Amino acid sequence: MPRFRPHRRDNHLTLGNPSEARTASTDNYLLTKPQFTLSYNCSTGTANWVSWHLSKAWKGSATRQDNFRPDGALPTGCYRVTKDDYTGSGFDRGHLCPSDDRDASQEDNSATFLMTNIIPQSPDLNRETWRVLEEYCRNLVDQGNELYIIAGAYGKGGSGSEGTRNTLADGKVTVPAKCWKIIVVLPEGGNDLKRINSSTRLIAVDMPNRQSVNNGKYWYDYRVSIDAIEQATGFDFLSQLSTGLQSQLESKVDAERIQ
Ligand code: MN
Ligand code: MN
Repeated sequence: MPRFRPHRRDNHLTLGNPSEARTASTDNYLLTKPQFTLSYNCSTGTANWVSWHLSKAWKGSATRQDNFRPDGALPTGCYRVTKDDYTGSGFDRGHLCPSDDRDASQEDNSATFLMTNIIPQSPDLNRETWRVLEEYCRNLVDQGNELYIIAGAYGKGGSGSEGTRNTLADGKVTVPAKCWKIIVVLPEGGNDLKRINSSTRLIAVDMPNRQSVNNGKYWYDYRVSIDAIEQATGFDFLSQLSTGLQSQLESKVDAERIQ
């Protein structure tokens, strides 16, 4: 008997396609998967952004698959980054859509280990500051919310456990300077786009891809406005909302006190 699932899985791009990614451009290449949607940049060897819906419908008890591998869905002519391209670099294979956000089935979890969902992250960022925010998001889901999350990276040059690097794999993978994430928080329900209003909680962060990012600072010390991330990346987030609502929501910085 299939287990009854009262919770919904919604479209990852409900709030819009931040860079109008299509399959025509190799630097803004749209990859659509059941588990997440992303824009891939064949020049940097990383995603421009990954967008995913998170609710209890994506959660379960599948074990971590740990099967980092090239993504065969990339077009010919686009370098397919391998697990070994990161080996010995001093940078972690950092998930954009986290493994623990996709554990309803082995197949779902396995999708997060495709190298198109991975960026070179400093160990202090991946294992501390970034990870704690990932856990905060899942706590919000446990408390009865569903989330729309968009994450990405930009810039060039970060510091890992072996020092500073601009690229890995003979230049085929750019080490980003900053890693950002945007989270839209909604109480669980239907008709999500219509329920977003000027009091909807949004969280945006922009974090340096450096060792010591966690030195005396927590994820919430890196909160910024969505406007700031739009300016830094050139993307347009929440484009499915009216421009009036976008300007109201995107200029705010989340100020909720975090326990
Ligand atoms: Mn991670
Ligand atoms: Mn916008």
